Amino acid sequence: MDDPLEQNYSRLCTEIRRAAEKNRRNPGSVRLLAVSKKVPAERLRVLWELGQRLFGENRVQEARVKIPDMPNGGEWHFIGGLQTNKAKEAVEWFDVIESVDRVELAAELQKRAEAAGKNLKVLIEVNVGGEAAKHGAKPEDAGALLNAINGMSRLEVTGLMAIPPFREEPEEARPFFRKLRQIRDQLEQSCGAALPELSMGMSHDFAVAIAEGATLVRIGTALFGPRAG
Ligand SMILES: *Cc1c(COP(=O)(O)O)cnc(C)c1O
Repeated sequence: MDDPLEQNYSRLCTEIRRAAEKNRRNPGSVRLLAVSKKVPAERLRVLWELGQRLFGENRVQEARVKIPDMPNGGEWHFIGGLQTNKAKEAVEWFDVIESVDRVELAAELQKRAEAAGKNLKVLIEVNVGGEAAKHGAKPEDAGALLNAINGMSRLEVTGLMAIPPFREEPEEARPFFRKLRQIRDQLEQSCGAALPELSMGMSHDFAVAIAEGATLVRIGTALFGPRAG
């Protein structure tokens, strides 16, 4: 355990389990997504050896050179803003697109998935902070988007994702996490479909996100250290 990455991984797995138990949740219901943007495959293989299979990337250009460099059998999540003209490649490389926030993008993913003969899991990204500069569907538009995607044969919506406004104090992010869970609960009621996944919480606030129901925590810095540039 000389590599700090191994220590970080083991500590994080423990912290995630503790946060789940503290909130009387099954520890198996919270999964760690290793956010591997800007981290070379060589480092990711250290995590792979420790059993990590879930990785998150935010740029298609980076992923298409990195993913082929990794063993088969990982689960790759796209977590960045996705331009429609990158949908074809995103479908090629990713298992889950977490950042679907508009009908045109979903329609393009459906078209490309159909052409590739592939089924794709997607999350609807919701802009819970109402920030103009951020991606994500407006909360009031999420229902219409969900209904539209439910009519697309190659896409399966498994839940919601959010990147709340940055708050120095993790507790201050709690209302945003809670809001995403409430939107999920409302959508499940109105659409009658299960939306089990809540992708929320990052390095500094994942414990609060788990308390509010996160099933996927997206962690980069706390695993790999600060990213260059
Ligand atoms: C970079 C990134 C993360 C990870 O953030 P850290 O603070 O480094 O853990 C999580 N989610 C998204 C969408 C990201 O782009």
